[in-house]
Amino acid sequence: MTSFNDFGLAAPITRALTEEQYSTPTPIQTDAIPIVLAGRDIVGIAQTGTGKTAAFALPILNRLYANRKPLEKKSPRVLVLSPTRELSGQILDSFRTYGRHMRIQSALVIGGVPMGRQVRDLMNGLDVLVATPGRLLDLLRANAVRLNQVEVLVLDEADRMLDMGFIHDIRTIVAKLPKERQTLLFSATMPREIADLAAHMLRDPARVAVTPAASTAERVDQRVILVDKPAKSALLIELLRSEVTGQTLVFTRTKHGADKVVKSLHHAGLSAEAIHGNKSQNQRERVLGAFRAGKLGTLVATDIAARGIDVDGISHVINYDLPNIPESYVHRIGRTARAGAEGIAISFCDHEERAYLRDIEKLIRITIPATDRRSAPRQDRQPADNQRPQQARRGEQQKRAGQHQPHGNHQQNRGGQQKGRGGQQENRGAHQENRGRHRQAPRFGKQQHRNDAGRHEQPRQADPAAVASDIGQIAFMRQAPRQAQGAGDANRGTR
Ligand code: AMP
Repeated sequence: MTSFNDFGLAAPITRALTEEQYSTPTPIQTDAIPIVLAGRDIVGIAQTGTGKTAAFALPILNRLYANRKPLEKKSPRVLVLSPTRELSGQILDSFRTYGRHMRIQSALVIGGVPMGRQVRDLMNGLDVLVATPGRLLDLLRANAVRLNQVEVLVLDEADRMLDMGFIHDIRTIVAKLPKERQTLLFSATMPREIADLAAHMLRDPARVAVTPAASTAERVDQRVILVDKPAKSALLIELLRSEVTGQTLVFTRTKHGADKVVKSLHHAGLSAEAIHGNKSQNQRERVLGAFRAGKLGTLVATDIAARGIDVDGISHVINYDLPNIPESYVHRIGRTARAGAEGIAISFCDHEERAYLRDIEKLIRITIPATDRRSAPRQDRQPADNQRPQQARRGEQQKRAGQHQPHGNHQQNRGGQQKGRGGQQENRGAHQENRGRHRQAPRFGKQQHRNDAGRHEQPRQADPAAVASDIGQIAFMRQAPRQAQGAGDANRGTR
């Protein structure tokens, strides 16, 4: 399909799409829309930024348009479950945007705001209800909503709902839905629990996987800055004052961390605001509105609060802290490079975060170029400390052959670093040079890459022995992230 007209969507919908200047469907839309229009269940592996909201909203609206029915009290015809308030709000906005030339009754059911208005919204029945699971359960218990008229269920960002502990709530909700329904499940990744959920809840689903985790990562120009933990704040200020000029989303691991970063930026005379779970819904909406309108240059967020932030103009993502769950890194950097645009992601990595970095690189199958801004760089680290075995071997081979591959530069940077401030300037220059080479070949991929002279280079070939040893190494290294994830889970309320 090359045009939205090819789907045979109803005229009011295509009119809205023309007004939104959507001319070409994205790959997930091309694949999913005909299947959903045909009434089939679907499992879509797609991240935000791929156009997946329209991929389900457009065929659902088409169904509602083609098959109008009197609404039943307290009952939605379409139920969309999403993990966060922000994402839920954005999904509802999308339905209203694409459905603006149709008459549809729609409402939002999310936590953090009084229930009274939601109870009233539900009273006369709805075409589309977008909800977070917790508040929907509260309303079910209060007998304010009935789910026996639901014709279509959408589970959006299912993996994130799992991360946030909603899986049990989802099972409870789904048990109250009619068996005869269409179910659409979207997830950026497919952990076993989600695959199990899909197997139980969906009927003969079509599988659409347009965006493997790595592909967003490949569109984003990524780099890591090795830095001492206490120096992160000064480094962020320096970046925001010098090279980072566009709209910037800064990620921290905790709510407290987000507030601390905002404070230090204010102290330095830079404008920034934070959004996280401790902020009221009004505060979050005000800050997001300012960011979306371009009035706020820097937004500091935790993973959960940032989920669903859909701002097209984000040019930079800065990971002030690296996430302990590698998939979160992909979600984070996917906030930039949306809808095909390119973006820049800069990650600060302190000593304690090295294991997180290794896990991220393993997931995205890219070695992220690193510059070193530590006060006392350790030059003679054992491979187990900061490198995979084949990297160490590669370094040795290069030294012997007297060659410099892209990463050789970074080794040089480390030497430059010891010269103090002047050395740091050199590093930045060296890094700029490296820009064009940031997107490394997926380690096992077949892609070709251009070198600086514009010639194509063959990607590094994986040496099978090294890969085997790498797997052993990673299996060994997994211990740390697993503990960390446990800690992250225990700390869930702090995010
Ligand atoms: P989503 O993945 O649903 O969060 O969408 C990401 C962004 O892409 C949103 O800002 C959409 O408005 C935009 N978008 C979705 N589909 C299209 C399309 N076919 N053409 C242009 N923009 C689109």
